[in-house]
Amino acid sequence: MSDKDLRLNDEGASVSLSVDVALDVPLWSTFSYLTDRPLSRGQRVLVPFGARRMCGVVTKSHNENKVYAFSIKCVDDVFDDLPPLPDDVLDLVEFAAHYYHHPYGQTLFTALPTALREPRAVRLPDRRVWRLTAAGRAADVAPRHKVRHALWQALAERDLTPEAVRAVAAGSGAILKDWLARGWVARADVAAPSLKVEGAVPLNAAQREAYEAILAGEAPHKPWLLHGVTGSGKTEVYLQLIEQVLAAGRQVLVLVPEINLTPQLIARFTHRFPQTPMAALHSNVADGERLHAWVDAWQGRARIVIGTRLAVFTPLPQLGMVIVDEEHDGSFKQQDGLRYHARDLAVWRAHRAAVPIVLGSATPCLETLANVDAGRYRRLVLAERAHEAASLPDVRLLDIRRAKRSEGLTDEVLAALAERVRKRELSLVYINRRGFAPVVACTECGWLSGCPRCSAKLVVHLLARKLRCHHCGWEEAVPHACPDCGNPDIKPLGEGTQRLEAALSRALPSARILRIDRDTTQRREAWDDIYRQVHAGEVDILVGTQMLAKGHDFGALSLVVILNADAALYSADFRAGERLFAQLTQVAGRAGRADRPGEVLLQTQWPDHPLFRALAAHDFDRYAAELLQERRLLGFPPACFQAQLRADAPSLAEANAFLLGVRDALAPQAEAAGVALAGPAPALMVKLANRERAQLVLESPRRAALHHVLDYLTDWLPSQPVARTLRWSLDVDPQDT
Ligand code: ADP
Ligand code: ZN
Ligand code: ZN
Repeated sequence: MSDKDLRLNDEGASVSLSVDVALDVPLWSTFSYLTDRPLSRGQRVLVPFGARRMCGVVTKSHNENKVYAFSIKCVDDVFDDLPPLPDDVLDLVEFAAHYYHHPYGQTLFTALPTALREPRAVRLPDRRVWRLTAAGRAADVAPRHKVRHALWQALAERDLTPEAVRAVAAGSGAILKDWLARGWVARADVAAPSLKVEGAVPLNAAQREAYEAILAGEAPHKPWLLHGVTGSGKTEVYLQLIEQVLAAGRQVLVLVPEINLTPQLIARFTHRFPQTPMAALHSNVADGERLHAWVDAWQGRARIVIGTRLAVFTPLPQLGMVIVDEEHDGSFKQQDGLRYHARDLAVWRAHRAAVPIVLGSATPCLETLANVDAGRYRRLVLAERAHEAASLPDVRLLDIRRAKRSEGLTDEVLAALAERVRKRELSLVYINRRGFAPVVACTECGWLSGCPRCSAKLVVHLLARKLRCHHCGWEEAVPHACPDCGNPDIKPLGEGTQRLEAALSRALPSARILRIDRDTTQRREAWDDIYRQVHAGEVDILVGTQMLAKGHDFGALSLVVILNADAALYSADFRAGERLFAQLTQVAGRAGRADRPGEVLLQTQWPDHPLFRALAAHDFDRYAAELLQERRLLGFPPACFQAQLRADAPSLAEANAFLLGVRDALAPQAEAAGVALAGPAPALMVKLANRERAQLVLESPRRAALHHVLDYLTDWLPSQPVARTLRWSLDVDPQDT
């Protein structure tokens, strides 16, 4: 190592300290830089990287004289705008990078608010208040000077926030600066507001039991599954638990699915704790606001953090409890970049912080139920609706194979809707779009547009009037009649909301119909309008997709109609049934929430399907047990643990060749560890943006064995030349297979 390599810093002093720095680059290592002053883990720095200057985060500092075999550059700047990033976040990031086998730097930068990823200092508004000191009270502040006097008087009465200062008079800022120098005023943190609780109701017996069990738990806490039917009062239990945590002076993290984080949910929380500072974090929060919420949580000002999956990375120095509502919801899993599952990270985080975590759901996912079976989680049950008068809705299955239908709606459904319209009661018509692929089917014989070359279904492309296979690329014209029975009445399964709206207004001319889908809710105020209309009684029938399923409180729904549920049963995804059940339970749960029992009508070709039978009987447990049994027989998760290596290349052949190479290289390791390798196989959606995709699945009944092989894989693969010629990614615990 030459003298030149051991660089001198600008002042010419010899530099002997060095740090490891994480950068937002797709490389697995951290990078070494020299520094002229000691830096701590979590400090944001500016460093040269190639031709660029990037924001980095110190992961480790070396105080001894470390000898480097290569030339090493210096840290350019240290951002002192914030203290070093807190340990709770850095620890979680480290775990996530390790568990998801993702580059550490990229994992860390995923966890940070955008503003902290940029190579510049952030400017945070000073939230501290101005407070008069004893010297200030005794000071002579020139009573004849109007502004000074007004300011002094205001301060003598109470602490002033920056906004309050500006309100006193222009020019107050300069005066305060002067007084600060004289020691007459000081900056102080706002005193924590007292805990005020409004509108709590006495818990019923089942709620109380759950509540007490959770509060009585001792570290190390096992995660709690709060399994309660829709409307059983899970949220009320969360709120009362949160009250206890806040009273103990600690913070709460509440994770909810994106679709549930509605203004109404926030309102329910703020109504309950009117003086408690809360931070809401979801993808629609602007970058600046997000940073402030993040820092507020970090510095302990925000006492409740409620947010979607990304909120799991929020620093919470006084974390007292974690709640994950609708823990089964697919939106907790990130589908690109760092493919993390926020629920699973939340469980780790709660364990690490030695605080309780509550996973709530009416339809827990099978992974969670398996954890209950294995004794890792404990289950608490709320079997009935919380309102005394409210009972679960009456679910009826309408067999559409023989029923006469117009525009897909049976006479029975139309009659039921007409009756509600006459009585001016609110109905909901729900079209399932989950697992939705517009395949063509015959209404007579049940023929489905299958691919002649492979087992996939052909998907309709209406504009091109073509049927296409997304597996193998086969293409044909849309037939004019059923190839099997000659029936001319063949149509795409799965009506769109617009078509349905039109059909309904033809069939029920006097009904006032409101369509809710992505198109009609684009505008920011759209939901406000929708609520106003619904609550003013201006709507008879709501038509929409899963946007309507949960979270929104439309008051009492008298009737819920479910269409096109069958489409999900054609899915190639082994989780489709589980998801459909959860989805339909949510929708059905919208019926009869107040003092009236609701009615649910579900049109299906398979009224005897165990899924629909269980739904009608409100028997989730039995259906879940059947599904679990099936998964164990087939060796699917949760009976095994999976990881997926995906590759995309200009051609499928290239992607396959790459994965085959990986497979061969892994085979000895995998075999020794008891990890099975399946594939490579083309992805469900093979072609995307002119690239073709394939995947290799690794699976094992033992999680540790799987991760052992993944360690080997991620050690070896990035150094292979071929890994740089195409795109690949690793998905641990994939949700879409
Ligand atoms: P979930 O979260 O399980 O869907 P909620 O907590 O939203 O259930 O409760 C459903 C309804 O029942 C709400 O209107 C809520 O105010 C009411 N509720 C909850 N618990 C009670 C209780 N103990 N007594 C009376 N009403 C309750
Ligand atoms: Zn036919
Ligand atoms: Zn095909």
